[in-house]
Amino acid sequence: MSAIRPGDLVQVVRPQPCCGAMQSIGKVFVVASVWHGKGFCDCGAMYSTETAFERSDAAAGYVASRLKKIDPPALDEDEVTDQELVA
Ligand SMILES: [Zn+2]
Repeated sequence: MSAIRPGDLVQVVRPQPCCGAMQSIGKVFVVASVWHGKGFCDCGAMYSTETAFERSDAAAGYVASRLKKIDPPALDEDEVTDQELVA
């Protein structure tokens, strides 16, 4: 599984691994921040994993294994590549 990074466009495609909660399936968002460490599900299960947050205040987080990365538009990729080559 490729790593989720801030700025990535992702979609929730799997239920919670602990309790099978599916209410966020289909949700698409841009990752604001990524947390590596312990996290909790609403059901009380604890994870030691990678969690992607929808907002920088860490109010809405999703276990990274539930997410599928959506390829960004090709123009954004070209811009980044050009900047990296110049630098
Ligand atoms: Zn749960």
